[in-house]
Amino acid sequence: MGWAATGLHGRPSPSRGPRVEDPPPSNGPFSLTEMPYDYADLEPQIDQLTMEIHHKRHHAGQLSNLNDAVADFPELADMTVEEVMKNVSRFNTSVRNNGGGHYNHDLFWKVMAPAGKRGEISEDLQTALERDFGGLEEMKEAFTAAATGQFGSGWAWLILDDESHLQIVGTPNQDNPLMDLSPTRGTPILGIDVWEHSYYLAYQNRRGAFVSNWWDTVNWGEVSRRFSEGPIH
Ligand code: MN
Repeated sequence: MGWAATGLHGRPSPSRGPRVEDPPPSNGPFSLTEMPYDYADLEPQIDQLTMEIHHKRHHAGQLSNLNDAVADFPELADMTVEEVMKNVSRFNTSVRNNGGGHYNHDLFWKVMAPAGKRGEISEDLQTALERDFGGLEEMKEAFTAAATGQFGSGWAWLILDDESHLQIVGTPNQDNPLMDLSPTRGTPILGIDVWEHSYYLAYQNRRGAFVSNWWDTVNWGEVSRRFSEGPIH
């Protein structure tokens, strides 16, 4: 492995073994996303330790808090996380933040993939990118601007609106455009987490460098699949 000799920024790469303790088992109806690849598989763009802490502590913590909220809102137990998002205004801030965190991270893990498993942009998605942005590069520019321009913690998204047009949206905190209280609504087909915990160990404050490198991890096969499924109604 050529990259393993130097790792990011010339430092020795960490070992590939687990470095962070596993989270406790699920404490309710929602389950932590099973990672579709190993934590080290997104190197050199995203380092193993960042991925492990992000999944086993940040995502798992939000998942646990979402499950705790079922005590206050028993109806959550019978809802998918997508249904929770679309009705999130019925609940409280904890459900908004932790339910959003669960939905967002689940998508984030799945729209990235190791080298060789990133698929291709479908013809239909390519056509829509040309129609709505002028092309892939123009979409990436607009998305990158939303990701780097998001003040503080949040996310940037490529969404499919209810007319099946593509748009770029930024959201603060753990909000997302599927939420019924989002100013711009739609179904995310690609998203990036620009909270500092997503990149700080390797990139420190250089969010722009993280976003730029992150493009190389995108699983275009999965993004195309989500596009082909259409908006969630
Ligand atoms: Mn995160």
